[in-house]
Amino acid sequence: MATESVTSQGMDLKDPVTPLAMVVGPTRPAPSVLERLGDPAPPLTDPEFIAEFGRCLSRLRTLVGSTTASVAVVPGTGTNGMESIVVSLLRPGVPVLVASTGMWGDRWREICLRHQVPVHAPRFPVGRAPDPVLLEKLLSRGHYQALLVAHVDSSSGVRADLPELARLARQSDALCLVDGVSAIGAEHIELDAWGLDVYLGGPPKGLAGPPGLATFALSERAVRRLGERDWTPGSYSLDLAPWLPVMAATERGEFGYFQSPAGNLVLALSEALRLALAEGREARVGRHMALRDRLHEGLAELGVKLLAAEPAERANGVTVCVVPEGMREEEFLGAVAAEGVLLPGGTFSALGNRTFRVGHLGTVTDADITRTLAAVRAGLRSSGRNR
Ligand SMILES: *Cc1c(COP(=O)(O)O)cnc(C)c1O
Repeated sequence: MATESVTSQGMDLKDPVTPLAMVVGPTRPAPSVLERLGDPAPPLTDPEFIAEFGRCLSRLRTLVGSTTASVAVVPGTGTNGMESIVVSLLRPGVPVLVASTGMWGDRWREICLRHQVPVHAPRFPVGRAPDPVLLEKLLSRGHYQALLVAHVDSSSGVRADLPELARLARQSDALCLVDGVSAIGAEHIELDAWGLDVYLGGPPKGLAGPPGLATFALSERAVRRLGERDWTPGSYSLDLAPWLPVMAATERGEFGYFQSPAGNLVLALSEALRLALAEGREARVGRHMALRDRLHEGLAELGVKLLAAEPAERANGVTVCVVPEGMREEEFLGAVAAEGVLLPGGTFSALGNRTFRVGHLGTVTDADITRTLAAVRAGLRSSGRNR
């Protein structure tokens, strides 16, 4: 249960002048997270740094619902992380199944193709989660080495049914590889219980940490596959295999080296993870769900439609809305920004510029939702709709 709420984490929530960025990332870090970024980078062999890095790794394992996963925190973007997973675990020439619900599924596909991994990517209706019945059928007749999916696709606001998808992947001996970059810190994750094989995360979204790191949690099965590899990965620096013994050494308090860690970013992430666990895994997800529900009710009252058609498939921390009829995206978002709230435009290519987004993850509060709804209401009014 909650022992440390967001408001007790030192946020200044009453500043009416600074624009409020309701973006998917980077989200607003707590002051104690920001403080970790201002010091000189810690020496790599400093025992205090190694100890804190070890705590960071163990907190990550706890947050994704695992006691046994191999974890790693490495420099890079989320996309670097996706590519690491592909080059490390997927054998060129053996097909994978990509369950795409937007641009991030499409990116899985592009990365696989670059590394000569054939892709089968069935289409699902716009705004719907991957259909388990179709996936089961495909998995049962193909010889796929893996099922790749975004837990939450931030271009559509759709959440995939991970427990079900992981079950289907296991049934056909395919690895279940998950891009959780816009989900970690905002969604339930049970790596062990659901049987996920790799869960990719990153600090700058639901964890409200700094950009620049990719986080990984790997099942025992995934680690075994790494060990059994009979091909050479098409990238040296993105290979996850050499990182795992380094991370294990770090957790034992020993120095290990493959590439230099981004020291300050690790310290800041460790603090963001500490805050997340202090709030409580359940409480943190519950806060995101309650704020999402308030936002969605308010948007419905304003007549704004959401892209994710099924309430049960709507992500906790990202909402994708359809631009109101008769309005231009730019003009509408400009009007909302004039009210002091920055909302990102759409990234769902199938709908061109007909969507806009609201990020409500990380340290998001009730006051943020109130301000967002007021700005959207005013934006609708000033761009020509009388609500
Ligand atoms: C933000 C995001 C990423 C990673 O983005 P980078 O810009 O490469 O850090 C990956 N997947 C999803 C679903 C995201 O929302």
